[in-house]
Formats: sequence, C-alpha cells, structure tokens
Amino acid sequence: MAELNGRIEAIGKRVEGGERLTFDEGVELFERATLLELSALADRVRWRLHPEPVVTYVIGRNINYSNVCWVKCSFCAFYRLPGSAEGYVLSKDQIFQKIQELVELGGTEILMQGGLNPSLKIDYYEDLFTSIKARFPIHLHALSAAEIIYITHISRLSIKEALKRLKASGLDSIPGAGAELLVDEVRDRVSPLKDTPTAWLDLMQTAHELNIPSTATMMYGMGETLAQRVEHLMKIRDLQDRTGGFTAFIPWSYQPNGDELKGQGGTGYGYLRTVAVSRIMLDNVKNIQASWLTMGPKIGQLSLQYGVNDFGSTVLEENVVTTETTRHLMTLDEIRRNIEDAGFAAKRRNTRYQLLE
Ligand code: SF4
Repeated sequence: MAELNGRIEAIGKRVEGGERLTFDEGVELFERATLLELSALADRVRWRLHPEPVVTYVIGRNINYSNVCWVKCSFCAFYRLPGSAEGYVLSKDQIFQKIQELVELGGTEILMQGGLNPSLKIDYYEDLFTSIKARFPIHLHALSAAEIIYITHISRLSIKEALKRLKASGLDSIPGAGAELLVDEVRDRVSPLKDTPTAWLDLMQTAHELNIPSTATMMYGMGETLAQRVEHLMKIRDLQDRTGGFTAFIPWSYQPNGDELKGQGGTGYGYLRTVAVSRIMLDNVKNIQASWLTMGPKIGQLSLQYGVNDFGSTVLEENVVTTETTRHLMTLDEIRRNIEDAGFAAKRRNTRYQLLE
C-alpha cells in the first residue's frame, strides 16, 4: 500500500477502520490523494464488501424502444424531437425479436430506455411489459426516473400509482440513468428542461419503498467541480441509508459525440480517480460497476484495482451514451478474459446480483 501522509493518512486510517467519511474528507481525498493512494483505499473497501476474488457480469441487452424526446439535454446526441422524420418507436415485434436473440444467448436482463415521448402514456408501457413477460422469462430493468416522471405527468397519475401499475405489468427494477450530476447548478446548465435532482431522488425513494430496486449512476465531466461530484455521492449515500434500494453504483464520464455541450470528455486517469472515490464514499452501496462501454475494456479492467467488483452487462446495443465513434464492445469471452487476466474468477449473475454459476 502506498505511503499515506499527513491529512490523507488520517483519512486513510479512518477508511481502513471501516469508518464513514464526511463530505469534506471526500473532497480532500479527491483533490489531494495520489492515484495509488486512492487505489489502495478503494481496494480495502472493495475486499471488505466482497471477500471473495470474484468479479461478476450479467448477460443482458439494451433496447432503446424510442428516440423521440423533447428535453434537449445538451450532452445527448441520441434524441430526435417529436415530429422529426428520424424519430422512431420500435414495434412490439422488433422488441420481441431483440429479446429472443438475447434469450437464445442465455441472457437474463433487458435494459429498456428511451426518450420522453409525448405520445406514449402509461397504457403503452403496461401493454408492452405485459406482452414481454407473457413471452419471455426475462428481468425487465427499464425506464429511467425521467421517463417515469414524464409518464406520470402525461398520464395524470401520482408517482406511486404509476410505479405500482408498472410493477404490476412486469417492471422488475429501474436503471439509475438520468441522474447525471444531482446538483442543481449542473442540472440547470446541461439539462434545464429535465426533472430536478430532488425529483430524481424522490422517484427512487418511492420505487425502493415499493420494493422496486434500482441502480444509481453518475455522469461527470460536464464542467462540474470535484466537490459537486462528492455532493452527488452524498445524496446517493443518504438515500441508500433510508431505503437500501440501490443495488449498484455506476459512474462514467461524459462522452462528446456531436451534441451541444461540446465538452472534452473524461480521461482514464480521471475515471479511475472518480470510481475509487465513489467506492470509498459509498460504503452502503454494495456493488460498483465498471463502465467499459464508455471507458474502454483496458480501463474497465484496470478499474478492478480501484474498487470495481462488477463488469456490468454484455451490451448488444447502446445509443444514449455512445455513438459509433466512442463505442467499445466486448464479446462474452473478452469480458471473462479481462476479468480472469486481472486475477479474479468471472461469474455470471442476475440483475439482483445473485450468482448464476
Ligand atoms: S438524455 Fe434522455 S431526457 Fe435528455 S435529451 Fe437524451 S433522451 Fe431526452
């Protein structure tokens, strides 16, 4: 373990003792600790939570059922405005076909997300989810908080009522996408038309209370400060204390892809620092997932030394966070090879993080 000195050494001792860090300590670590110090501390927390040398993955597929959206987030190159000739809504048969392909590969999870499409009210989702569940034994990890909040608006329902109906029709869990940075200043700047950070957290709290688990994400690299990243982590940690409903945390950096934000995107060094601080601060979120889709397989593999214990999903398609130019795809064999080459046993899991082998 790298030599920790002064103030960082004191913080490091608290981490080693299993103590929870404050906001100020998180910022101090982020700003002053070396990469190796962060790796050593994140690794401590990782092994405390996962004593076995195992890294998990899930066989899943992303389905972007519609790209129609009016929210115009400045970092997003995926959406098409309502009325655009390039807008689409996949037919049920197209969706079934994609799920069939996944099931034939032994897959267990569908991650289904789209835009905020004004023509799709709750009955569309109820019908779609019911039809999927009638045909396939598949876990439906679907609809970001922003999509669900919008469905409640256009369907004139409370959040609780909408979630109950979606759950009854087959929704199993909610992806944490759309959190970006849960800081008002950042949200107002990059996605002013989206729901607020408070609304995202309230939606997740209600879902967890209804026994609908979710993941949590963080998209950073949009001109925010390191303190704002830690603020985001604190909000996730506080909600997790109340509900215990977050199964995993997944940080990734903003990917420039022809959108309006025109930022520079993250580096491997910045990603490893961010993932390590996330592991250290989120002592109550059991799993940290690699984001190799955006950061690439090599950085994904390295992140296993920075607190990551899960390699996420085999992704057959993904349009919202990446474009052709930034996409990194790996076969199942490559995923397993990357995990095993780093010294871990690669084990398949389901969406609830139960081992399947
Ligand atoms: S990130 Fe989501 S909500 Fe924002 S414009 Fe893209 S599809 Fe719409």
